[in-house]
Amino acid sequence: MTRPVWGIPIVFLLFSCVPAENRRRAAAGIFGGSTAQARPAQADGLAGEGAELVFPDTVRRVLSRALIPGDLSRQVMGAAAEGPQFILDLLACLEGDPYLRRLVDKGHALPEGYEPEDLVELTGGKSYRISRRGLMLRRSAADALENMAAAVRAEGAVLTAASSYRSYQYQVEVYARTVASDGQEEADRVSARPGYSQHQTGLVLDFGPIDNSFAATPGGRWMRDNAARFGWSLSFPDGYETVTGYVWESWHYRYVGPELAAFIDTYFEGIQQYALQFIHEWENTP
Ligand SMILES: [Zn+2]
Repeated sequence: MTRPVWGIPIVFLLFSCVPAENRRRAAAGIFGGSTAQARPAQADGLAGEGAELVFPDTVRRVLSRALIPGDLSRQVMGAAAEGPQFILDLLACLEGDPYLRRLVDKGHALPEGYEPEDLVELTGGKSYRISRRGLMLRRSAADALENMAAAVRAEGAVLTAASSYRSYQYQVEVYARTVASDGQEEADRVSARPGYSQHQTGLVLDFGPIDNSFAATPGGRWMRDNAARFGWSLSFPDGYETVTGYVWESWHYRYVGPELAAFIDTYFEGIQQYALQFIHEWENTP
């Protein structure tokens, strides 16, 4: 069955409003191949049939390379085929700071020696507590934390920042300590190898208490229901150990920005790992 050519002319008009690099990738995503190849296809798409199936095919290929499970893939395919909203939402996620969307997991390390340049120390201030001095986050995450904590506070709960940026060297020590006390296998379930920790991005915060009793606290419940509005996303949800590589960590949130947080919730059932795998493949599929 052939779908109607949904909004492709509209999408191309909107492309003129986004930076060239993202436009190139999105165009390549819609029409396959490089922009050079995309141009004739664009003409075909506007002129008649033929191009409308290329975009869903690209999404299908990326979903498959990103190892997104069947049911979820079908939902994303449905959304992508329905209209231009999916591609527009995806484009919004591809804007700006690439570290917000960077896949950092057991198979994907940060660049060697990566150290964020805009770390600031968390002060707590009026809105949230800090469990110790010296906690650092990148500026964007620290500002977003401030806004979110004020909203939590207004509803009568108080968040505690308990662990944040960890340098490569610090992760060397944490990982070695966990291996020494619990053995290699257990260490890999609960701790990241150096270079592979989301904490090294400077965009991740562990809220206290750092155990799953956090989920039942007023702050923990509030975070579960509202964090995405402020750009924060739960990294390791309950029941997804085989997907994320980590046991449930109800306290570990990553700042991904409001656009990506909404994308994760809207299209990937709130599972950050799936959305990041999808975006990683989208940006790296030739
Ligand atoms: Zn953590």
